[in-house]
Amino acid sequence: MRRALVWFRSDLRTEDHPALHLASREAPGGVEGVFLLSPGQWREHDWGDPKTDFLLRSLRSLAGSLVRLGIPLHLVRADRFADAPEALVRLARRLEADLVVCHRELEVNERRRDRRVGDALAADGRRLVSLHDQTIVPPDEIQTRQGTFYTVFTPFRRAWMERVEAGGIGDPLPAPEAREPLSVETEAVPHSVAGFARPPAGLVKLWPAGEAEAHRRLERFLESHAGGYGENRDIPSVEGTSALSPYLALGVVSARTCLAAAAATNRGRLRGGDEGLETWITELVWREFYRHVLVGYPRVSKGRPFKEETEAVAWRDEEEDLARWREGRTGVPFVDAGLRQLAATGWMHNRLRMVTAQFLTKDLLLDWRFGERHFMRHLVDGDLASNNGGWQWSASTGTDAAPYFRIFNPWTQGKRFDPDGTFIRRWVPELREAPTKALHDADKLTAPGLAELGYPRPMVDHGMARERCLEAFRHARGGG
Ligand SMILES: Cc1cc2nc3c(=O)[nH]c(=O)nc-3n(C[C@H](O)[C@H](O)[C@H](O)COP(=O)(O)OP(=O)(O)OC[C@H]3O[C@@H](n4cnc5c(N)ncnc54)[C@H](O)[C@@H]3O)c2cc1C
Repeated sequence: MRRALVWFRSDLRTEDHPALHLASREAPGGVEGVFLLSPGQWREHDWGDPKTDFLLRSLRSLAGSLVRLGIPLHLVRADRFADAPEALVRLARRLEADLVVCHRELEVNERRRDRRVGDALAADGRRLVSLHDQTIVPPDEIQTRQGTFYTVFTPFRRAWMERVEAGGIGDPLPAPEAREPLSVETEAVPHSVAGFARPPAGLVKLWPAGEAEAHRRLERFLESHAGGYGENRDIPSVEGTSALSPYLALGVVSARTCLAAAAATNRGRLRGGDEGLETWITELVWREFYRHVLVGYPRVSKGRPFKEETEAVAWRDEEEDLARWREGRTGVPFVDAGLRQLAATGWMHNRLRMVTAQFLTKDLLLDWRFGERHFMRHLVDGDLASNNGGWQWSASTGTDAAPYFRIFNPWTQGKRFDPDGTFIRRWVPELREAPTKALHDADKLTAPGLAELGYPRPMVDHGMARERCLEAFRHARGGG
């Protein structure tokens, strides 16, 4: 009787899991799960300790849920993706599984790995079936009239909305029915893997693992915070966003589940209705958009800019400036608060992600790829498509519809989004006693009397830096 293996990757859940359902339907002889531990590849992809630790804890929670469904989970070491074909063929042979089911991953290396695994399984008389899962609409199913991938968010969103409104979201799938347990032991998930340390307990506590937690967050957000999302989502001192990103990045909850719940709360509407809910749904569409870009323009996942002409920007090469930015010692309070929030929590508020990224690329004129890597190594929600999309948007090398002169002033950003300095004081203790006005004004911050607080002087003058940046982009376009 047919047996199947479900190969889990960035879909660490049992609810709304099409691959589990397919395997349960097609394999009366038994369903087992497998996850490949690939620390070598994760390091190459710049995964950091927070993400890896969250992954292992999520895996442990998944293993528990699968046991309750009668599905054992195998852990197989395949240090790099190149080791995956052999590892999976060996396991499939041992378990006599002729079908391996997974959800499609969209990144270049992951797609190459999957092709090789598919070929190796086929050569061994077995089959790999990969199903769509990561986005609500498959990234290549939304196209312009000319049959190309979108490059600008607003028309993409319009096309996406029309498609989902016409076809409906569909009900997320429940977990499959529990089966008679197989006499196979589920393997213990390790607490750490080679080359990755366990993050401090304070950070770990912020991100409890598991599907139940993801659903709790979703419910709490929709009940208590979604209504005010439109006004609060830009204020980093308030808990105004869902903090679901790590769960979405590893598929602990599906985007479809989030969308269906938000639409239900908005009386079935994706557009219109409650303004907060409409805005939140738009954020889910940003997530879809950056995956669409990744699939349509794969150069972005190879370290290349979306706007090819920006390859010529002469980024500065200043190791010391980069180090100060990484450590949150730039002397610009709002920027440092964001960078320190990242170091302490593994997460950074979206407004600060934009401000710190613009500061690195525009004020310091340092290459966005350094920032992208730093974020990836520290974020618990590190995700190639969204991180790359966010960085390239901020650096004006990406899909932003605005021309290259969108340059945030980090001082006025702080004044606007943290007017009373609550967020800055939370993360920059040196400035706890500083007057609020000084937090948003370089001259006041450096005036006599504040130097003894032990906070560094601003490393760059924004006015000068802005001109320098404009000149660098003009030059890259052949205009200077
Ligand atoms: C420079 C930069 C780097 C980023 N890196 C990442 C990353 O590695 N991983 C990541 O998940 N997000 C990234 N983002 C997007 C965004 O900052 C986070 O998704 C968001 O802050 C997560 O918080 P939340 O779950 O409370 O979001 P909410 O505001 O509650 O939004 C709900 C969900 O929508 C998605 N989302 C929201 N905003 C965006 C966006 N701008 N782009 C894509 N998806 C979005 C996320 O999945 C998020 O969990 C980055 C943004 C920038 C500007």
